[in-house]
Amino acid sequence: MSKNKSNQLSGYQSKRNFEKTTEPIGRPQIEHKKPIFVVQRHAASHLHFDFRLESQGVLKSWALPKGLPENTGDRRLAIATEDHPLEYASFSGTIPAGNYGAGTVEIYDEGYYLNLKPHALERDIRNGEITIELHGSILQDRYALIKTDYEPNSWIMIKMKKEKS
Ligand code: MN
Repeated sequence: MSKNKSNQLSGYQSKRNFEKTTEPIGRPQIEHKKPIFVVQRHAASHLHFDFRLESQGVLKSWALPKGLPENTGDRRLAIATEDHPLEYASFSGTIPAGNYGAGTVEIYDEGYYLNLKPHALERDIRNGEITIELHGSILQDRYALIKTDYEPNSWIMIKMKKEKS
């Protein structure tokens, strides 16, 4: 592990007051042998879903204003947000009014993912193109996340054709 996790989480930590929210502060965690994913339903000022993938000791995160793509070929906007601590994968609860992300967070699905490209996810993120296969309770499909030029942080999540590997 080359990066300092507390630096990597400074964006996350600076937005939150941990005396007011029960969200995890982000203590160092052991990485999972099989990197995890989580999808959280977040009833904030605007209902959305948060999609998170473990990479290098943190959760790379995107907000999905219209949820996940449901059918093969469907595309949904995915807005890259700040890295979240690994512990966030098990967070559910209500973030009190007046705090960042105020509203209720529920875990929609969780599990592990396979990176379908033969290199580190971090590199795919830098290159703006991720292809993954989710192994959750609900989600069992392949998705691509592609960075767009429309706006900084704007990505598109696409549901891919199911293939037997
Ligand atoms: Mn959110």
